[in-house]
Amino acid sequence: MTVNEVRFRQIHLDFHTSELIEGIGSGFDAKQFAKTLDDARVDSINLFVRCHHGMIYYDSKKFPERVHPHLKSRDMLKQQVEACRARGIHVNLYVTVRWDVYSYNEHPEWVAIDAEGRYSDYEKRGYLEAGFYRNLCVNTGYRQFLKENLQEVMEEIPAEGVWFDASFVVECVCPTCMKGMREAGLNPKNAADRKAYSEITYHDWVQDMSAQVRAFNPDYNIFYNKGHVGRVDKPVLDDYTYAAFESLPGGPWGYMDFPVSVKYIRTLGKETVGMTGRFHTSWGDNSSFRNKAALEFECYNMLAQGSKCNIGDQLEPSGVLSEAMYELIGEVYSQVEKKESWCREVVAVTDIGVFTPEEFYGADTGHLPEASEGVCRMLQESGHQFDFIDSAENFLKYKVLILPDVIPVSEEFGRRLQHYLDNGGSIIASFESGLNPEKTMFTLPAWGVRYKGNAPYSPDFIVPSGDIGSGLKQAEHVMYKQGAWVEAEGGERLADAIESVFNRSFEQFSSHLHSPSSGKVGYPAIVKKGRVIYFIHPVFGQYHDNAPLWVKTLVRNALNMLLPDPLLKHNGPSTLLATVNEQAAENRQVVHLLHYIPERRSKTMDIIEDVIPLHDTRISVKVDRDVTGVLLVPDNKPLDYETKDGRIEFLVPKITGHQMVELSFRK
Ligand SMILES: [Zn+2]
Repeated sequence: MTVNEVRFRQIHLDFHTSELIEGIGSGFDAKQFAKTLDDARVDSINLFVRCHHGMIYYDSKKFPERVHPHLKSRDMLKQQVEACRARGIHVNLYVTVRWDVYSYNEHPEWVAIDAEGRYSDYEKRGYLEAGFYRNLCVNTGYRQFLKENLQEVMEEIPAEGVWFDASFVVECVCPTCMKGMREAGLNPKNAADRKAYSEITYHDWVQDMSAQVRAFNPDYNIFYNKGHVGRVDKPVLDDYTYAAFESLPGGPWGYMDFPVSVKYIRTLGKETVGMTGRFHTSWGDNSSFRNKAALEFECYNMLAQGSKCNIGDQLEPSGVLSEAMYELIGEVYSQVEKKESWCREVVAVTDIGVFTPEEFYGADTGHLPEASEGVCRMLQESGHQFDFIDSAENFLKYKVLILPDVIPVSEEFGRRLQHYLDNGGSIIASFESGLNPEKTMFTLPAWGVRYKGNAPYSPDFIVPSGDIGSGLKQAEHVMYKQGAWVEAEGGERLADAIESVFNRSFEQFSSHLHSPSSGKVGYPAIVKKGRVIYFIHPVFGQYHDNAPLWVKTLVRNALNMLLPDPLLKHNGPSTLLATVNEQAAENRQVVHLLHYIPERRSKTMDIIEDVIPLHDTRISVKVDRDVTGVLLVPDNKPLDYETKDGRIEFLVPKITGHQMVELSFRK
């Protein structure tokens, strides 16, 4: 364990506090503050240097004008930090980056300018609306201020790390950025060039700040938060100590954002931290409580994905932590504390690699490509073990690769996929995945189809039969989204598309929704050639849209054909979430079983209220070593198990929310 080990039980303590509010820290007692955290088993906390209002919470000598005017003790941050560290609680110094009301009022020349010439606003809010979302530009004098503020606080208040927040990638056409773009040979009139320059700026700025922090103390933990970690972060991941996934299911993220995002970044070898909130909805939701079952699921799911936990909170202006809130947090974190020995330094065990559409289309806070969410749901609901990967990954690590809906394949990418197939790999591809970037033809003959354009009928229908139709009625099933139009070329047609009587338009339509079937076989719908199965329809985007069970069943059947012996199988319901993590240092694998059911009980968000236990769930795990014991942990209750055909099988008597099962191996 290093001095600054990234901890399991973190709190992110928001303290964005208007300069209009009086009595800041009026009830603050440093010892009580740290005791409340310690009692709730918190072992790391992000504490505020400077908030989105631009207010500072320590006794700054360089920027005294920015210290909150109603701060009772000017060294409140220092007292918070010292009291926490005295109890062994790690502290990350929180610094806001793009949002700072004081700075944009006092230095309008630091505000980023959007392509229309307006002050750039993250939420695209009008000038007269509430909120601190105007973006500052880090290519202006603001960067120097950031660095001086950071240097002063690091020297003044020793801690374990720095958390840069709201560190967004922002397009800007301020005079400095215009000059920078021209020098980089980029055209400010071109949107793609502005985007490229915003990423150049982000990478340059991150490297600059990390160099400053590491020059001060090479052991400091560093993270840059901006609501999503993905493609943009890959070139500068070495400048982060870990990747944290701000992903509050009550906010814009929902429940799919975290698994999709973390399953990619963890493949890049970066330590990960999941982040939810104690809020019912999202940040700033004062005096609201998250349902306990929801908070349990969110934290235990972080452990199941190989991540550590962070719960967001907002400190009251009085500086007093809510005892009721920390009772709730303590109920969950005391359980995390018992579980964490089985969660330290783990690597996910997976047999399916899913190419992330984000590599080609990007992603943003709460906005992930729809195919990503669809494929993640389908595979999770089927008990499959998978990572999201990019085209630079070592494909041979995986038994099956999935190219969901929209993955373009360049010649170089195609060569690597062909090499993977030549070495016994299997591929599932759908819709436009596999087309060249120009979308004129499939890059590899291995797909077994020739591209002709868009399917002439939409919706159309599939009659499932044989292995691909297992578990489905041999009847027409509608495929809502328009597919690709292909001709089989050396591939076997597993299913055909049935045409409708006509495409619906104002001139020709029938009944409320789409047209009925004509019964006429039109064109191939699912084609198999060797170890490649290709679906013409965007099945993953379709599942994200309205989750037809027959679409999931078709994909699951295709996986059964290519991966008859998957890593994990269970006989539980589709609401059971199962993962397998390898803990090499302990010579064991840990199976996580989670059963919490998010339900759409409101217009805006999913709710988890109850823990519904599962009884007598049979689990089968493929193992490549001799198993010497199976234990329910952390209670250390041994389970009977059978070993057969390279698999181990056991019955878990009861899963109450979250259950870990340890499989220990012969040394
Ligand atoms: Zn700028």
